[in-house]
Amino acid sequence: MSKQHLVAVIGAGPAGIYGTRKLAEAGHRVVLLNRDIKPGGLAEYGIFVDKEKMKTGLRKQFKKILSDPKVFYLGHVSVGHDQALTLADLKQIGLSAIVVTAGAQGTKKLGIPGEESVGVYHAKDVVYHYNSLPPFSQRNFEIGRRVAIIGMGNVMVDIGNWLLNHKKIDQVVVVARRGPLEKAYDDSEFEVIEQYLDNLEMKKEIERIRPQLTAVGQNIDQIIEKFVKQGEPAEGRRLQFRYLCSPTKVIADDRGRVAALEVEENELILQDGRTVAKGTGKHAQIEVDCVIYAIGDQVDASLGLPFSRGVFVTNPGKLLADPNPAAYQPYDPEAARVLEGIYVAGWSRNASVGLVGVAKQDAERGMKVVNEYLSAKEGFTPGEMEAKIEAILGILDKKGVSVVTKEDVEILESVENEEARNRKTWDFKFITDDQMLQVIRERKAAG
Ligand SMILES: Cc1cc2nc3c(=O)[nH]c(=O)nc-3n(C[C@H](O)[C@H](O)[C@H](O)COP(=O)(O)OP(=O)(O)OC[C@H]3O[C@@H](n4cnc5c(N)ncnc54)[C@H](O)[C@@H]3O)c2cc1C
Repeated sequence: MSKQHLVAVIGAGPAGIYGTRKLAEAGHRVVLLNRDIKPGGLAEYGIFVDKEKMKTGLRKQFKKILSDPKVFYLGHVSVGHDQALTLADLKQIGLSAIVVTAGAQGTKKLGIPGEESVGVYHAKDVVYHYNSLPPFSQRNFEIGRRVAIIGMGNVMVDIGNWLLNHKKIDQVVVVARRGPLEKAYDDSEFEVIEQYLDNLEMKKEIERIRPQLTAVGQNIDQIIEKFVKQGEPAEGRRLQFRYLCSPTKVIADDRGRVAALEVEENELILQDGRTVAKGTGKHAQIEVDCVIYAIGDQVDASLGLPFSRGVFVTNPGKLLADPNPAAYQPYDPEAARVLEGIYVAGWSRNASVGLVGVAKQDAERGMKVVNEYLSAKEGFTPGEMEAKIEAILGILDKKGVSVVTKEDVEILESVENEEARNRKTWDFKFITDDQMLQVIRERKAAG
């Protein structure tokens, strides 16, 4: 009887799913373990709610990949310390390889006083909330009418879009360490909030920082031409920018709620060809009701891989191959050795870097490394593989986990699609795990 490999992939976002396809194409079987009931990761729960074409296109691709009989999907299963399944459980069961594609689930803080005040949030939590991911879907966010968003990448634009177009709040102030030319958002993404830009304030703001920008050789006339448009902000909702400012303190009112953000004003210096912000010691206050950090995320240390400064540690060695295997190998710095048979890819390898296409490419390159590793190893008989899958299911059963299979996901999605049609919208999601599990149970019971 021919032997096959059995690989555990942890996380069914774009990296995990496209990676799974590469493993299955090489003939391996995959157990795909996913924290969320539904697959897709940030493609399902991150990409902005109204990007219908992109979301439906990705869902279709993911469904096709999961339909491969070599892929065994187990949703509603978290892996990590104190979770339903630990990395040690998987190692003990003895799979051919373990691939961690769990994204970047840890949150970064600035470590400034007042950060624990009511009304300070991480962008990811907010994004999960408006994309209906349990339990964030049910969390109450105290937004108020004026919000400071820290950071100026595409996630800032998404949050601004939600606040201005959907929550219809009065004012969004984007707080950025550096100047307009150092923006990280794409102009095409920005179009959804551009109509709210407070052009008068924008002009004043650029004039305010004129000396600092000219000091690093930036052309003010060109900046004004690019960043200051004509007209009043639409519907009186204002989008403003505070450049060259680093948050230093969240000031709370006597109920512990955000009242203002204190910032230190920066100057710009050129360092190795890069424009870098440097504090001037001068402080200012921005009156807001809420502060949202859109400064990127870090990986989740509780997953159980060696962790340092927000990332999983990978093999510092440079191996002579393309892709470089070392980049995908978790590495124990204390023992100075790689964790044999374990790999990381996607945002778990490179937190908060790139679009879906980047995560896909990273996973595909990583799985080339994994497939190479497996080609030198002996696989398992079908009986051995079944026993290993049973062992995983046995642990989950003992812990009382309601495991969700790909057939269950299909049932759930068909009910959600039905509901969307009834409501005449393109998308509908149940917002708690209990609702989703109940719908699956009821439909199965009804046959
Ligand atoms: C706000 C926002 C908007 C974006 N918009 C776009 C866009 O418009 N277009 C675009 O191309 N890209 C967009 N991106 C980028 C894109 O979402 C990412 O590139 C991509 O999703 C990263 O894929 P990943 O699989 O590495 O991680 P993720 O998508 O985060 O997937 C991780 C998966 O792992 C699972 N998981 C987590 N922890 C565990 C655990 N302990 N055990 C088991 N499973 C676990 C999660 O349930 C999830 O399914 C956006 C990102 C953000 C944050």
